[in-house]
Amino acid sequence: MGSNLCEHCTAVCCHYVALPIDPPETVRDLEDIRWYLLHEGVTVFVEDGDWYIQFTTVCRNLQPDKRCGIYETRPKICREYKAGECDYEGGAHDYEHLFTRPEHIQDFAAQWQKKRRAKRARAKKRARL
Ligand code: SF4
Ligand code: SF4
Repeated sequence: MGSNLCEHCTAVCCHYVALPIDPPETVRDLEDIRWYLLHEGVTVFVEDGDWYIQFTTVCRNLQPDKRCGIYETRPKICREYKAGECDYEGGAHDYEHLFTRPEHIQDFAAQWQKKRRAKRARAKKRARL
């Protein structure tokens, strides 16, 4: 579609910050993620096996007409972001997991612990053979 797509967009990509986080390995890590999700405007998602935290927050430079107020000096990350491979479609992401509320990570943690217990039980059984 190219950059003309931006003419028809509400600048979705200028309304958040997303950062990679370490994948959770322990119950404590999952508890920390639950804490993140207790905050308004915070989501956590997994894409291509990588975990991210996302803060919904509008860029200070976004103008009322949805154009960039510092276009010539906008950060590299904004320059590299390609219309057409972007957030325009809203929700068309190929997320493996999307956690928008604390209950979502609690459900995930319950499943995770269940799998972990089953794995341990299998390992114990094998050790006895
Ligand atoms: S890059 Fe995509 S999400 Fe960002 S303003 Fe352009 S069309 Fe919208
Ligand atoms: S600097 Fe410009 S392009 Fe980058 S997020 Fe802000 S408004 Fe959008």
